[in-house]
Amino acid sequence: MDIIDTFNQQKKNRVKYTVWALIFFLPALLIKYYKESIADMFALSASFSIYLQVFALLLQTVGLVLIFFTYKNSKCPSCTKIAGSGWNVKECKSCGQKFT
Ligand SMILES: [Zn+2]
Repeated sequence: MDIIDTFNQQKKNRVKYTVWALIFFLPALLIKYYKESIADMFALSASFSIYLQVFALLLQTVGLVLIFFTYKNSKCPSCTKIAGSGWNVKECKSCGQKFT
């Protein structure tokens, strides 16, 4: 696989991992801000909110791991430095390798 193919594959991975990171982060944020309401809604005892917090923390941890994978897939296949930020990186900001 050449550098352009490799980078295009990484681009797909970046999108995938970012979407998954959001899927894990959003409920974590919702739990953090609405844990009282959630506990009320399901008529849960106050002590149950600690489990909700632990659950939110777990979701956030998974989200962070996914962000790490996103970061790993931002590396230039040519020089292994971060090629740039954003979705549409056209060339490596470190070595100038073109990706299109
Ligand atoms: Zn590079």
